[in-house]
Amino acid sequence: MRYIRCNFCGATNLRSRDLCRRCGGKIAINPKSSLQTAFAFLVAAIIFYIPANIYPILETSKFGTPEASTILEGVIAMYKAGDYPVAMIIFIASVLIPILKFIVLFYILFSLWRKKCKKLEQKIWLYHLIEFTGPWSLIDVFVVVILVALIHFKNIAIIPGIGATSFALMVVLTMISALSIDVRVLGEKCER
Ligand SMILES: [Zn+2]
Repeated sequence: MRYIRCNFCGATNLRSRDLCRRCGGKIAINPKSSLQTAFAFLVAAIIFYIPANIYPILETSKFGTPEASTILEGVIAMYKAGDYPVAMIIFIASVLIPILKFIVLFYILFSLWRKKCKKLEQKIWLYHLIEFTGPWSLIDVFVVVILVALIHFKNIAIIPGIGATSFALMVVLTMISALSIDVRVLGEKCER
């Protein structure tokens, strides 16, 4: 192949070039470093997912007795209170989607590492799905922030717990991991 796409601006460049003719960005493909960076961030994200589920995402103090609830406890409490849509959204956004993302990212990284070319289009589609849904995972943190703001008006002390911080970090690390993957590597390897 004579041509290669720039990762930053999308311009088509001659393969012999080091820098993009349009934006000046580096256009060389470095499969190994892209893979290692993505893998390291993915492992870090999974590590933060543990405290995000074990530690309380919210700490409330009603009538002086402190109460704390984790993500799952919150989902169960909302379900019991009859808030089925909210319980569903929180469960999907904070339990189902992160786990699915970990699995998909592992699958893509494994394919890149083993240079597996089967179902290439499906892999690239999955990758773009992860990239697109990344920021939406912060909906949990958003809910916590709204709750904190709302409940402050009612004179009940409520603060975000360690779980919320860990969850936000997990989401950001997953996003960085996905962004570190150079999808051009998949196409490149499979074209040969
Ligand atoms: Zn460029």
